[in-house]
Amino acid sequence: MATKAIGVLTSGGDAPGMNAAVRAVVRAGLSYGMRVMGIQRGYNGLLNGEVVEMNLRSVSDIIHRGGTVLYTARSPEFNTPAGVQKAADKCHEIGIDGVVVIGGDGSFRGARDLTGAGIPCIGVPGTIDNDIASSEYTIGFDTAMNTAVQMVDRLRDTMESHDRCSVVQVMGRRCGDIALQTGIAVGATSILVPEVPFDFQKDIVDRMTFTQKTGKKHFIIIVAEGVGGVEKLAKNIEEATGIETRATILGHVQRGGSPTLRDRVVGSRMGAVAAKLLHEEKSNRVVVMRGGKITDLDITEALNMKRVFDKDLYDIALRISI
Ligand code: ADP
Repeated sequence: MATKAIGVLTSGGDAPGMNAAVRAVVRAGLSYGMRVMGIQRGYNGLLNGEVVEMNLRSVSDIIHRGGTVLYTARSPEFNTPAGVQKAADKCHEIGIDGVVVIGGDGSFRGARDLTGAGIPCIGVPGTIDNDIASSEYTIGFDTAMNTAVQMVDRLRDTMESHDRCSVVQVMGRRCGDIALQTGIAVGATSILVPEVPFDFQKDIVDRMTFTQKTGKKHFIIIVAEGVGGVEKLAKNIEEATGIETRATILGHVQRGGSPTLRDRVVGSRMGAVAAKLLHEEKSNRVVVMRGGKITDLDITEALNMKRVFDKDLYDIALRISI
């Protein structure tokens, strides 16, 4: 029988730590006696046959690098039944017996469909947003938050000098986790997340005027991307409080940078487990963190889970950032 060959790809938005996961898939895969193929540019690259065989040295010097050395892409063509069949045919043609897909929920739907077309797939959660219900943690989240904290600390220096209010938008379209944790870490007076509706007067203005009376002179409001509208919000705050207010959108800086220790370690662990699962003939699984442990779940079951926002942590943030 021919040596089993597995592919690895990164898909959807890139995240720091994806390289650690790719490296782990390659090295663990080789250690199990499998061949490992690097598929470039996500499902798009698979459809186009952009595949390179990896060896131990192909993934040298990447653990500390942000982005993804395999590149990533979104693939509308793959997102059709014909596209999925074409991708499966391509795997047969190249001789890929299974694929590790590193990405978000969209990429996992693709992995589920490709498994259905006869190519066993394993998902690994890689997205800075931490928006995957089945996993407590997604690769890239820690680095993105640390970047956001560093950036807000810089803003804070200049705001303090001018007694200003700073409204800062951080990433997180459907998920307020980056905003929540960053907000706690920078001592934000208010944190606006998509999961909790807010009242402008009660949740922002009243909190600012209360803390102002206790002697606070500068303010940080953290807003998740999914809430948005920071320019208008800043204008409204200035009008309502008389405090000079500036809006800043941190944007894509949060996606880049050298991954933190946590993202390197979690990426390494999850990647190694994904390769092991394929070695053990497992299929349609997603590697997740639950109760602090790395384990795996059926992809379909994982995709049906509902995210639970950490309301207790949110309440703590409100209680102490005043
Ligand atoms: P993420 O994986 O970060 O959620 P996307 O949602 O953009 O990113 O998905 C990445 C790619 O996964 C898409 O470009 C598409 O090729 C594939 N994909 C997304 N949703 C589906 C789906 N429902 N069925 C099959 N493939 C999908």
